[in-house]
Amino acid sequence: MEKDKVPHVVILPLPLSGHVKPMLTLAELLCDAGFLITFVNSDYNHDRLERVMDIPAFYNRSPGFRFVSISDGLPLDEPRLGPIIFQLFFNTRTVSKPLFRELLISLRQSTKRSPPTCIIADGLMCFAIDVAEELGVPIITFPTHGSHGMWTIMHTSNLIEEGEVPFQEESDMDKPITSIPGMESLLRRRDLPGNCRLEVENPLMEFIISEASAMKRASTLILNTFEELEAPIIVQLGSFFDKVYTIGPLHALLKTRIKDSSQSVSSCGSLRKEDSSCMEWLNSQPLKSVIYVSFGSVIELSRDQLIEFWHGLVNSRKPFLWVVTQDLVEGNEELGQISEELEQWTKEKGYMVSWAPQEEVLAHPSVGGFLTHSGWNSTLESIFEGVPMICWPQVADQQVNGRCVSKLWRVGFDMKDTCDRFIIEKMVRDLMEDKREEIIRSTNEIARMARGSVKENGSSHCNLERLIEDLRLMSLTN
Ligand code: UDP
Repeated sequence: MEKDKVPHVVILPLPLSGHVKPMLTLAELLCDAGFLITFVNSDYNHDRLERVMDIPAFYNRSPGFRFVSISDGLPLDEPRLGPIIFQLFFNTRTVSKPLFRELLISLRQSTKRSPPTCIIADGLMCFAIDVAEELGVPIITFPTHGSHGMWTIMHTSNLIEEGEVPFQEESDMDKPITSIPGMESLLRRRDLPGNCRLEVENPLMEFIISEASAMKRASTLILNTFEELEAPIIVQLGSFFDKVYTIGPLHALLKTRIKDSSQSVSSCGSLRKEDSSCMEWLNSQPLKSVIYVSFGSVIELSRDQLIEFWHGLVNSRKPFLWVVTQDLVEGNEELGQISEELEQWTKEKGYMVSWAPQEEVLAHPSVGGFLTHSGWNSTLESIFEGVPMICWPQVADQQVNGRCVSKLWRVGFDMKDTCDRFIIEKMVRDLMEDKREEIIRSTNEIARMARGSVKENGSSHCNLERLIEDLRLMSLTN
């Protein structure tokens, strides 16, 4: 292949770690296929990445890979969690768009590397579609949600037109939602994405609606899911996009294709330092006895919620491993006096870390359940390892994911809209013991399908091959 025909893919994630991680994984897989990669981080995330990985050593192993960074418009010392994230969304259009345009022009003019032949941009970074169209570079959209979450978000404006949104939180939250094709008997009001609880005039609603609409201007869609899990909705998505590539679970696909994935950059994709001491603690626990608890990277709990979870876990009398990030409690509120019983039980039967090697934790034989906020990465990782879940979704696609987990795939229970120590205790007991029978067969079956999808000749494996081939062809015609 001529030098100037080497595929050069520019990858642009939404600058939040739950979006950066799957994008980095895809970037690594494409780099492994011989492509040049330019990965566009925010300055904030790049700084965090540099703290957890040796980037020059990574460049030595992967000479085709380069990071660049642009501002996300927020101060560098401001943690990206809670409501500030909405500001980050709005900044993408005002701050990131002109910077990305400049970057793309400079990449095209550079004599060091061949010019970009394709952009892969997050589904919430649709300003990139304007830039790509203006500069004549093909673009693919990669919303990092699952298909059901994505399909629901794409129907936000239909929900408003049909009068199903907005609704008051005090109204009948179990009322079925009927205007999303293919999901008529699945969702209730409470299962709609968090933003559907806002006023229609809220700027976040406007942002979601316009991003969902703009996304369709990219003719090609990548999804981090697998056909066997979400086939009917993937088919529906095919009516909006010329090509749909389902290539998940990406973290597992990477492990099947890259020999030493412990050296991979995406293993640092959460941008936080992992505390691996919990693996030793897990080694000392009985088989399938531990409930793993994590609420991901952006959710904050009130002090009262944290205390309810703590009591519920302790009262369930099951050993737990809990990720308590430094900024988990809203406004860093002091916890105050903690009862001796909580302290004592946690010392004897619990383990807390500020960040866990989650993929390894979920794969550990001692882990029997996952209490999660139902972020899509966590959901897929748990599905892959055959670990049933208790869902406590809060924002975005998490509510939809929780509903799919409990009602559609039957791989867990959904606890949404409650946070009460008695319910938490009961849910943990149900998951680990009393009602485990109800879900364990489907959990194992879906895990088997997930594993099959990333093996040679599996659906996601083949779809990635197709994507690589199409990106190559694109670079020849571009
Ligand atoms: N994660 C991790 N260690 C932790 C908690 C989470 O490595 O202690 C990773 C997890 O494996 C997942 C990601 O962080 O890949 C969280 O993504 P998700 O979409 O579930 O939630 P978000 O953080 O975006 O809300």
